[in-house]
Amino acid sequence: MSTSPVLLLVDESGSRRVDPHEPHLSVTDWGVTRGDGIFESISVIAGRMPTLDARFDRLEASARALDLPLPNRSIWTDALRKAIDAHEPVDRLAVTVVMTRGVEGADDSPTAWLLARPARDFTGIRRSGVSVVTLDRGYASDAAEGSPWLLLGAKHLSYATNAAALREASRRDADDVIFTSTDGLALEGPTSSLVVRRGDLIESPAVEAGILAGTTQATAFGFFESRGYRTRFSAIAAAELVECDAIWLVSSVRQAVAVHTLDGHPMPVDDAMTADLNRWLGDEARLE
Ligand code: PLP
Repeated sequence: MSTSPVLLLVDESGSRRVDPHEPHLSVTDWGVTRGDGIFESISVIAGRMPTLDARFDRLEASARALDLPLPNRSIWTDALRKAIDAHEPVDRLAVTVVMTRGVEGADDSPTAWLLARPARDFTGIRRSGVSVVTLDRGYASDAAEGSPWLLLGAKHLSYATNAAALREASRRDADDVIFTSTDGLALEGPTSSLVVRRGDLIESPAVEAGILAGTTQATAFGFFESRGYRTRFSAIAAAELVECDAIWLVSSVRQAVAVHTLDGHPMPVDDAMTADLNRWLGDEARLE
């Protein structure tokens, strides 16, 4: 049983555990020099992997978008199991799965690995909520369709702009970001999906707007439907966000976090509903 991160290198023949404190990556790997690769963060709750199939589906969609080989599910599932078994038991483990285009000038084989570590603790902001600023992402909401090379909606390694947006939020004394399109639609956070409530209607932006298909957002819709709410994907005008009855940012490790302030305006929050939603997101994981 390991107390340090568990690292496995993965190739087409299988996976092998290596020392996470030793170097394993070439400085000429395309993933390092260009951010040319894909990833997933898999949340493991009490040893279970919620929405694993959905994550593999998304990893495959990202691989297709970047013209990378499709990941072999049985090798990756086996590697995930090995990592979970090798790690010291913790309530929540975050496993990062990465596949890059490989090493410059070498054959075409990707570089791939899986790293299991205890998940960051988001209990605090699940209770307190977050302040958010809207930031223009600089693309129209039809950019994904017209310019597929922008890789909008793929979970690729070039997250430097997402990290820059979070630093901008911090400069503006906010905790997080909701990206908007140049034609005025609300999109997603740099590492989260957007879910809003207007009366008995729960909405999220449609993936066609060039956003990641969120697995937590899908589970959250299930929660709201079980409570009698209607759900739908729609074009949500950024200007209308302040009129919403509730806004959440959701993702697999953080789960659901309520937005209590948007661009400096206080937003209504429903602590009981946020707690219920988080219980559902956690329990779904335990039950799978
Ligand atoms: N949108 C972006 C840009 C993300 O990076 C993430 C997660 O990292 C999400 C949405 C939420 O996805 P999921 O709920 O599948 O974790």
